Amino acid sequence: MSTPTKKIVLEEHFSTPELAQYAKDVYGTIDPDFIEYCKPRLMDFDTMRIDEMDKYGIDMCVLSMTTPGLQLAPDPAKAVKSAIEVNDLLAAQIAKHPKRLAGFAHLALQDPRAAAAELQRAVKDLGLKGALINGHTNGEYLDNEKFFPVWEKAEELGVPIYLHPADSPVEPANIVGYPEMAGPAWEWGPETAGHTLRMIYGGVFDRFPKATVILGHMGEMLPYVLWRLDSRYNMMQHRNQIKKMPSDYIRENVMITTAGSFSAAPLLCAMLALGSDRIMFSIDYPYEYTEQAVHFIENAPISELDRNKICHGNAQRLLNL
Ligand code: MN
Repeated sequence: MSTPTKKIVLEEHFSTPELAQYAKDVYGTIDPDFIEYCKPRLMDFDTMRIDEMDKYGIDMCVLSMTTPGLQLAPDPAKAVKSAIEVNDLLAAQIAKHPKRLAGFAHLALQDPRAAAAELQRAVKDLGLKGALINGHTNGEYLDNEKFFPVWEKAEELGVPIYLHPADSPVEPANIVGYPEMAGPAWEWGPETAGHTLRMIYGGVFDRFPKATVILGHMGEMLPYVLWRLDSRYNMMQHRNQIKKMPSDYIRENVMITTAGSFSAAPLLCAMLALGSDRIMFSIDYPYEYTEQAVHFIENAPISELDRNKICHGNAQRLLNL
């Protein structure tokens, strides 16, 4: 086998004792033994995490607060303060391993102006690479104009926003009674894809054309449906006037990662739909196994040129690493 490809991964999670409380609902759907496996790994920055990176040849890991974090915090002022503390803690951990760790800021979207200011501080002062947002904020989505200060700041700073899944604000009717469909198993995909489409149809990318959204999980199924989105948009009686076709925004404003999707068929679909310049290798540590992720990407039936782009080149360019 040839030398393993250099690897940068960017949907890799941590938590703090204070913010772990918000993950209880998410964990309610998952095997308790698996949660016990994940918990110490979420809280660890120095030992298990770096050991696993070394063992499987991960060169750099971009860390983010695990879902939902402060996204569901009820008190905006407290959430703003907690986000600052989390980002300071993250920056301090990265400073111990500057060649191995990087990070996305955690933002308290409950106060969009404060979130924009914190994004600026996180990027300019702490050296973080953008922000990761865990879905809706108390049922409100990022197409809402109240959140535009965050988009404006991200565009101005030239940093991406990673839109990570979270549970839907209300349990979708079609999963009631089927816990197999809850959370990451199914619910999160349509929830996050829908969130992205709201931004497209809400004109977020017409207003902020240089904004970049990163989607995990091989693009939350969107690469599969580009043609149909355009075709049905054209048939709608009532539609917002956006400047381009829906698929154009997904090709131009969205980048995707392989986090939690280690299968060649969707990877090849995504490459055909978006191009290999828009796809980045990621794991979703500790919720996925690094060994499986690395085995998948090293053996995917793609060219070495594409493998290099996906494993590190695209992330290096996007995040200025
Ligand atoms: Mn994740």
